[in-house]
Parts: sequence; C-alpha cells; structure tokens
Amino acid sequence: MEILVDGHCDTIEVAFDKQKNIDDKSLNFNLKDAKKPMIQMMATFISPEYKNSFKRAKDIINYFYEQYEKFSDEIILVKTKEDIEKVISEQKELKEKATNKILENKFLNSEKSKRKLGVLLTIENGRAIENDLKNVDYFYDKGIRVMSINWNEDNLLGCGALTKNDIGLTEFGKQYIKKLNEKNIIIDISHSSPKTFWDTAKLSEKPIVATHSCCIEICNHPRNLTDEQIKQIAKMNGIIGICYSSTFLSEKKNASSKEIVKHISYIANLVGVDYVGLGSDFDGLEEEHLPTDIKGIKDTDKIKEELKNVGFTKEEIAKIWGENWLRVLRENLV
Ligand SMILES: [Zn+2]
Repeated sequence: MEILVDGHCDTIEVAFDKQKNIDDKSLNFNLKDAKKPMIQMMATFISPEYKNSFKRAKDIINYFYEQYEKFSDEIILVKTKEDIEKVISEQKELKEKATNKILENKFLNSEKSKRKLGVLLTIENGRAIENDLKNVDYFYDKGIRVMSINWNEDNLLGCGALTKNDIGLTEFGKQYIKKLNEKNIIIDISHSSPKTFWDTAKLSEKPIVATHSCCIEICNHPRNLTDEQIKQIAKMNGIIGICYSSTFLSEKKNASSKEIVKHISYIANLVGVDYVGLGSDFDGLEEEHLPTDIKGIKDTDKIKEELKNVGFTKEEIAKIWGENWLRVLRENLV
C-alpha cells in the first residue's frame, strides 16, 4: 500500500488571501489534482509583517474550516491516530474489491469518490501565539497538531534561520517547547537557527521533525540541515520532509525531481531510509523556485519515477512516500 504524505504546504494561506477555493487548479496543491487518498499537512503560515499574529492565524484557520465545510465529502481532518486509519481504510477497501475483478469503470469511479484527502493542520512560525502560552491550547482545540518555533526571523521564542545573532531559544521559547510536549503537538524545527535547533533537541522529550528542509552538505543554505542535525532528528525518531525549493536543493538554483531524490538518497545513506519523506512547500514557493518538472501536486509522481531510477526498492519508496510520516504521526498523535 502506498500513500502519499506531504509534510508542508502554504495553500490555505494563499487561498485565504486570494479568496480561492482549495479545489482551484491555479493552486500548486489543490483538491482536484491531489490523488486521493493522501495526507497533506497544511500550514497556517504567519508572516512577520503581521503585527496581530494571533488574529492572523485565527483568520487563516477559520478559512480552512469554511473550506472544510464546503468540501466535507472529500476531506478528513486528521487530529487523532484513528483519523489516519480512516483516510487509509478507503484505500484498503478499494484494493480488496479490485482483486475480486469487479472493476467496471462506473464502480471504480464511485469507489474513487469515497477516497479522501486527510488534512493535518500545522502552524509555521510560533509567533502565532504572540506572548501567551494559553494560545497553544486554542490552536490544539482548533486541530493543530504540528507547530514550528520560527520562520526565518527571530521571534519571542527564539532565533530563526536568518538570524544575525544566534542565541537560540529564549526562556519563553523553552516554556513553549515544554508546552508542545505536554499537548502532544509535534515540534517542527524547519526555519529555526542552529542554536534554536540544538536547544530544542536537548529539551524536547518527544521527536522533533523538519517538515520542509534539505541537506546543507549538498546545498549550502541556512535553511538546510547539517549532518549532525539530521542524525539528531533520526536519533529522536523524527523525520525530515524534503522541501522542493530549488534554492535549497541546488546551489545552481535550478533543480528538478533529480535533485529532490539526491537529498532523499543523502539522508537515506546517512541515517537510513526511515527518516526521510516529502515536504513540498507548495504554494509557499515563488514560481521560479519550483523544480523545473514539478509545478504542483499533479507532478509529484515524477519523484517516484526518479526514486525507482536510482534503485530504491518498492518498500523503500513506500516509506519515503508516506509510511515514514505515518510512523511519526501514529507515534505522536493521541
Ligand atoms: Zn517555510
């Protein structure tokens, strides 16, 4: 069984700002092009330009709920372990029936329509909570199950990837990490500075993940992870979702599915195939930063072809495609 799990996209924010429905094919990720069942982790991204960041987060999340209502027959909101199995079970059912050789087109289509998109809500940039840890409870109640500490800038919690003076987590940031552990909200260290990463790794009692990052040994960019960071994430039983931004994939700033697979292979060689997955960043990348052959969710299978080309086995591809993310989600959601 192969299911795609993508660790990061900014689709809800873009859909909200442009007042588009999430089935609009102009979005990199959209309901029409997504091959269901799959799980898409959807971020509420808080750009530092928004001073009232808690309100901004609420507005984006509320827009997701409007869309969820509109497309409720196509979406399962993933908040618990059971919700994951609900998304997957439709796939199993179809496979079982397919082996019974009753695959007339009409039947197949009606079965396909039962397949759902699992959406797991995340927050990108802890400044969404402003200066109040109680807002973490609010987001949890709204279904948020993954939260990052930073975006690129420094915030009240700690330093971001583009910091000028890396002092790591603040005292408030340390309380935030403990709070996320208590709430079983998975900590996303993408966009954090090196010291924020290590302070968090030291403090967190639960796995940490990088929803959308790449390897610094292949492409020297402050958003990418060192070998030591990759080893630490693996040691904590987390995962790295490879981001599709050509700026993180290649120093030539020109990348395709081949470069995505290079980063996947690098991590698989360094720590094993169990700790790497996908984290597209669809609708969060400038058009010119998308890989030359991947312009949206419709093109994602090109990565699978390339994984086959370089010799990954069927089982390994299933892990990279989604099983690794599923392991982390199953172990951390309650
Ligand atoms: Zn990002």
